[in-house]
Parts: sequence; structure tokens; C-alpha cells
Amino acid sequence: MFHAAARYHEAMKSRITLIVCLLAIASPARAEWVERVVDGIMGTRIAVELWATDQASGNAAIDAVLAEMRRVDAAMSTYKPTSELSQVNREAALGPVKITDELFALLETSLQYSRDTDGAFDITYASVGYMYDFKVRKRPDESSIRQALPAIDYRHVLLDPKARTIRFKRSGVRVDLGGIGKGHAVDRGIQVLQSRGITRALVTAGGDSRIIGDRFGNPWVVGIRHPDRKDEVIAKIPLEDAALSTSGDYERYFDENGVRYHHIIDPHTGRSASKVRSATIIGPTATRTDGMSKTAFVLGPERALAIYNQLEDIDAILVTPDGRVLYTKGLEAPKP
Ligand code: ADP
Ligand code: MG
Repeated sequence: MFHAAARYHEAMKSRITLIVCLLAIASPARAEWVERVVDGIMGTRIAVELWATDQASGNAAIDAVLAEMRRVDAAMSTYKPTSELSQVNREAALGPVKITDELFALLETSLQYSRDTDGAFDITYASVGYMYDFKVRKRPDESSIRQALPAIDYRHVLLDPKARTIRFKRSGVRVDLGGIGKGHAVDRGIQVLQSRGITRALVTAGGDSRIIGDRFGNPWVVGIRHPDRKDEVIAKIPLEDAALSTSGDYERYFDENGVRYHHIIDPHTGRSASKVRSATIIGPTATRTDGMSKTAFVLGPERALAIYNQLEDIDAILVTPDGRVLYTKGLEAPKP
């Protein structure tokens, strides 16, 4: 009897030890970094990294960010015939089209960026831009460009703030948010995280990133790649509570007879804009930095730097075709 009781007692003790050990291993309430990389939303790579109170809540927050990005993509992609933006492109030349507050606000911001950049950023680039398909080396011929070019002009887009409608002034106009939508989606992703109480995170969609908080006394470090050498970094930027976007002529392109045809279009010519090789913008939101990174390609480094220097909330790093790296006045070139 005694022995049996003692053995039972021993067995209980080791079970208790075992349970305590398992709890320590599974530790559901330990704060940690949680990260995930997903391909294929908005045709690009999404990365989310955050500091969460535990794995499960961190993963739930990442799920919510990805769901939000899929929602934005479903509304604003021109590749999806069912999107709100595709409906606009089909109908807005015929009469006013009622749109959601979210799309209205992003279109308003887009038109403001056109005014801020002397028309270099222009979502109606798509009136010609839709004729390019870089994956299959397709580009419009001279006469197609000439015919469609007059439809490129952001002033053809009429927004009625009271009625919440959009209308195009003439036929042939198409808009595309490819130059600002990823930044918007990143900002929405950050809002999702903030609403869940997350204070340290990095959200990236392709070339557009935004960061909240720091890494416990250290900044996040985002690299800017070399335009020709994929694995080489030309600068490392320490960031806290900021957004950064890089546009490059190496993202979506094909080369033909020594000419590079790529995805940033000069609204004045309907052709690829090649006055810089890459442009990186640092600013308060990813919508802002995404929208501003196209300007340098269209206007060239001098005019673009003059504009960037005037806009108090952004900085820029440009790589010119001859390999020079230029900075706005808020940044300093690294010491040799
Ligand atoms: P990513 O698509 O990788 O974010 P960018 O931020 O450099 O790349 O944006 C390039 C996209 O911007 C193009 O694919 C196109 O959809 C759009 N775009 C091209 N030219 C212009 C322009 N002049 N103004 C506004 N958007 C443009
Ligand atoms: Mg972008």
C-alpha cells in the first residue's frame, strides 16, 4: 500500500514536471518577431515583419494585412475586369461614375501629385500604357502612340467631391493606379497593424515599404539595390517611422536593339522614361513615396531634385544613367 502510494506520488511529480516543461516550450505568451513573405498579391512580393505579444496574434495580424491587400487589389487592379477601377475605365467617358470614398480619395491624391510634379506623375499614362506588355515584349507602334497620346492628361479626369463621382472629359482616357496603389496598400496594411496595437513593424509590397517603430533602440535598415547588379546594394538607409519606395528601370522591361522598354511612361511622349536608372524616395507614407518615385524618370535628376527639395516631407536618392548617385539636400552622401 505504502509503496503503491509512494509510486503514485512519484508518477504525479514527474507528470507535473513534464507539464511544466511543455508549457515552457510552447510558451504561448512570449513576445517575439513574426514574419512572412508571400508572392502574388498585386503581382508582387509582400513581406510583413512585426513584433507581437505571441506567435498566434502576430500571425493573425499578418493574415489581416494580407486580406486587406487582396481587398485593395480586387478594387483597384486594372488586370481584374471586375474591379471598381476597371468599371471606371469602361464607363467614365460616357458619364459620371459613382465610386467609393477610398478610391475617390486616392484619385484626388493622384491628381494632386500630378500638379506637384509638373504632370510627371499621371495616372492617365495608361491611355497609352495599356498597349505595352513587358512580359511578352509588346509595345505600341508610332502611329498607335500618336493616336492615343492626346488622351494622356490628368486634367481629363474630373472628380465631383459632392456626388463622389468620376468622369473623363473625352474618350480614350484610361487610368491606372500601378504607380501609387502598392503604396496605398502598404499604408492600409500598417493601419491594420496599428488598429491591433502593433507598434513595431515593416510592411513591404514590391518596391514600397513602410515602417512603424524601431527594433528596440536600433533602426530598421532598408537597402537600395544596384540598377544592374541584383545582389549589390548601393546604399543602406536606416529608418524609423517612415516609408521608402524605389522605382527602377530593371523591374519590368525588355531590351530591343539597345533600347530598354520599361514600365515607367513619360506622359508627354507615351514612351519609357529613362532620365534616371532608379529613384528612391523617403517620406511619411508609402502612398506618398510611391507616387513621387516616378517623377525623376520623367523630368530627369535636376528638375526632379528641385521639386523634391521643395516638398518638405520627402527625400530622394537618384541613380543617373552614367552611374552617379544624387541626393536631396536633407540627405548626405556617404563619406568615401
Ligand atoms: P512597382 O509597380 O514595382 O511599384 P513603380 O512604383 O516604379 O513600380 O511604379 C511603376 C508603375 O507605375 C508602372 O507599372 C505603371 O503602372 C505606373 N506608371 C508608369 N508611368 C507612370 C506615370 N508617368 N505616372 C504614374 N504612374 C505611372
Ligand atoms: Mg511602387
